[in-house]
Amino acid sequence: MQLFDVIIVGGGPCGLAAGIEAAKAGLSHLILEMGSLTESIRQYPRRMRFFSTAENIEIGGLPFPISGVKAGRDEALQYYRKAAAYYHLNFKLFQTVWDVQKEDGLFTVSTTTGEHYQARKVIMATGYFTRPRWLGIPGENLPHVSHYYDEPFKYSFTNVVIIGASNSAVEAALELYRHDVNITIVHRGEDFRSTVKYWLVPDVKNRVKEGKIKTVFDSVVTQIGEKTVTIDNLKTGEESHLPADFVLVLTGYIPDAELLRRCGVELDPVTQVPVYNKETFETTVPGLYVCGTVMAGIYTEKVFIENGREHAQSIIDHIMGREVHQVKELIQRI
Ligand SMILES: Cc1cc2nc3c(=O)[nH]c(=O)nc-3n(C[C@H](O)[C@H](O)[C@H](O)COP(=O)(O)OP(=O)(O)OC[C@H]3O[C@@H](n4cnc5c(N)ncnc54)[C@H](O)[C@@H]3O)c2cc1C
Repeated sequence: MQLFDVIIVGGGPCGLAAGIEAAKAGLSHLILEMGSLTESIRQYPRRMRFFSTAENIEIGGLPFPISGVKAGRDEALQYYRKAAAYYHLNFKLFQTVWDVQKEDGLFTVSTTTGEHYQARKVIMATGYFTRPRWLGIPGENLPHVSHYYDEPFKYSFTNVVIIGASNSAVEAALELYRHDVNITIVHRGEDFRSTVKYWLVPDVKNRVKEGKIKTVFDSVVTQIGEKTVTIDNLKTGEESHLPADFVLVLTGYIPDAELLRRCGVELDPVTQVPVYNKETFETTVPGLYVCGTVMAGIYTEKVFIENGREHAQSIIDHIMGREVHQVKELIQRI
């Protein structure tokens, strides 16, 4: 079995940034990715536009030239693919890592299909997008229910219920409404989330005022049927039903805590945030690091590409015994 200096689990922007820093430092590396390269971004809504400016999601010091200011999904996919090729990153795709165990100072990384790889250090960069937050209600696994929104044309001239009131829910609702979809947003809170991008707020609120997007606030969906959803009003206790040809459960995603636990990493039992050194990103397992959004636990809005890409340099500095790069606290996104 070939022994790598570093194995990186996850080929998203932050995992690729780690691969680039390892390559620059002359370390042999392998990136294991369960899907295609930058699989999470590939699964984003097809017409999404990043809220960050393109330069803020660059990796490896490579410029990200676009004609506008903020990149779209396809531009980002092109960019990260080119960055991976430019640095000759060594990756294996469609390899789902199941376990990482340390013995006699070396790590064995095992996949769900029984492959094993060995490394001196391991960087977990598995993000959060593979793990939707399930509501745990009857009917959630029916074929017309999805935890991901892709594109609008599938839904034109149908009734769609969106569960959730964050950015993903609002962006999907606006795009769907503009493609002749009858949209209802159901949310347990009394209004849209305060974290919704400020430039989306007037658009969605005005569409609600006009009655073009319907909202059912202070309410939860308790059951999904073939053609309807059942809703409970949290204030009045009243039960009602809404027609639903499709249901989009856009209630967020959460890093794979079980995988980290299996690898021996300690996590906060409530927040699921792994215990790690805030400067080096080393976990409670010496030589095992977290990089990017995987370290966020339930606070997924706190780590994104803009700050997550920087973890790579600090981790590789620590591995190389160099002075560790200090990751800046980001106050504002964009
Ligand atoms: C719609 C949307 C818009 C966004 N816009 C922005 C923005 O404008 N700016 C910004 O900075 N951030 C943005 N984000 C957040 C950002 O995309 C994520 O924070 C970012 O992808 C984190 O990068 P990552 O490398 O840590 O994780 P990911 O990109 O999620 O990569 C993790 C990778 O690990 C793989 N993986 C997972 N488990 C395993 C396993 N067991 N074995 C092998 N591989 C595995 C996954 O397939 C995935 O490819 C946005 C997110 C969404 C959903």
